[in-house]
Amino acid sequence: MTFIIIGGGVVGLSVAYGLLKNGQDVVVLDGADDDFRASRGNFGLVWVQGKGADCVGYSQWTRRSAALWADFAQEIEDLTGLDLMLRQTGGMEYFTDQVELEEHIAKLKGLREASGGDYPFEVLDQKELRERVPEIGPKVIGATFCPEDGHVNPLFLLKALSCAVRQKGGIIRTGVKVVDVSGQEGEFKVALEDGNHLSGEKVVLSAGLGAMELGPKLGFSTPIRPQQGQILVTEKLPAFLHYPSGTLRQVNEGGVQIGASKSELGLDDTEDTETIAQLARHAIDVFPHLEKVKMVRSWAALRIMSPDGLPIYQRSPTHPGATFITCHSGITLAAAHAHLLPDWILGRAEAQDLSTFSERRFDV
Ligand SMILES: Cc1cc2nc3c(=O)[nH]c(=O)nc-3n(C[C@H](O)[C@H](O)[C@H](O)COP(=O)(O)OP(=O)(O)OC[C@H]3O[C@@H](n4cnc5c(N)ncnc54)[C@H](O)[C@@H]3O)c2cc1C
Repeated sequence: MTFIIIGGGVVGLSVAYGLLKNGQDVVVLDGADDDFRASRGNFGLVWVQGKGADCVGYSQWTRRSAALWADFAQEIEDLTGLDLMLRQTGGMEYFTDQVELEEHIAKLKGLREASGGDYPFEVLDQKELRERVPEIGPKVIGATFCPEDGHVNPLFLLKALSCAVRQKGGIIRTGVKVVDVSGQEGEFKVALEDGNHLSGEKVVLSAGLGAMELGPKLGFSTPIRPQQGQILVTEKLPAFLHYPSGTLRQVNEGGVQIGASKSELGLDDTEDTETIAQLARHAIDVFPHLEKVKMVRSWAALRIMSPDGLPIYQRSPTHPGATFITCHSGITLAAAHAHLLPDWILGRAEAQDLSTFSERRFDV
C-alpha cells in the first residue's frame, strides 16, 4: 500500500517510520518553512507526570509511549548514527505555592488510584528536595518526582526521524503545500499548490494546524485550535540540572530552557516581554542563581489542541482509507506513534483499541 502522509512534523514522521517498518510505502508531503510547526518550537519533554488525570486511557497511552521510548531512540540512533539525547532520569515538578502543591499531589493520587496502585511518584518536602537538587531557592516548598519522566532534544529527533524515514525507503517532499484531497481507499488524489497532483492508496492527515483546513475535505470535523507557548533559553551553563521539570530543563548543549506559557491568542506566534519576564521570574524563584545568567533566545510556537487536550485518532467516516492523527504531546507520544499506531492504522486485530481518542467524543 502507498500511504500519502500530509504533514512531516514529528507526528507525520513517527507514523511514516512506523508504517515503513510494517512494509508499507510512504510519501510524506510537508509544507513551507513559514507554516506553524510545533515540532520545531517545543519543550522536548517525554512527560508522564499528571497526564490523563481526567482520562486514565490517556495516562496509560502516555506511559506506554514513555516506556517504549528507550528502544525507539536506540533503534533510530542505530539506523541514523544520530544521538537523540534522550534522558529518562525521572522528572520533578517544583512548587512555591502550598495550594498548587496539594492540588498536584491529589491529581497524582487520583491517577494512582485509577491505575490500580501502579503509578509511581514521590512527594518531596523542601529538605528532601534539597538533598537531590541543592540549587533550589528558599521559595520552593517541595516537589513531586515521577521516575517515568524524561526529555530529549526535539530538533535532533526531527532530523533523525527524517533520516530514518529516508533510509527505510520513504520519500519526503518538503516545501509542498497540499491544497486539496479527495477520493477513497485505493484512489486518493492530492492536489498541490504548485499545480501538481499525486495519487495514493491511503492518506494520513497529520498536518498539525494545517489539518483545520484539509480535515473537512476528508469528512473529519478536526476540532483543533492553536494554543501559544513561549520559551526562553539561557546561555550555556555547567551541568547542574539533572532532572527536567514541566517548566525547566537543561538541554544537552548546557542552556537552561524555561517555559512554556499557555495563551489562547489564535494563530499568533509572536513573543511578548511580559510573558517572557514571567517565565524568567518563575525560573529565578526555583533556581535563584539563574538571576545572574544571560537569556540568549526566546520564541513562541503554537500547540495543536483538541477541546479536551487529548489526542485524536480518527478514521474517516466518509473517505475510507483516510486517517486523521493529531495530539498536543507529539514528542512524548512519538514512540507509540512509531511502534503501536501503525497496527491501528492498518486495521490489524492486535491493534490497541483507540476509540477513546475518536473525534466523535466531541459530538453533541
Ligand atoms: C511551546 C510548546 C511546547 C511543547 N512542549 C512539548 C513537550 O515538552 N513534549 C511533548 O510531547 N510535546 C510538546 N509540545 C507539543 C509538540 O510539539 C506537538 O505535539 C508536535 O510537535 C505536533 O507535531 P505535528 O507533526 O502534529 O505538527 P507540526 O509540527 O505543526 O507539523 C505539521 C506539519 O504539517 C505541515 N503542513 C501543514 N499544512 C500543510 C499542507 N496543507 N500541506 C503540506 N504540509 C502541511 C507543516 O508544514 C508542518 O511541518 C509542545 C508544543 C509547543 C508549541
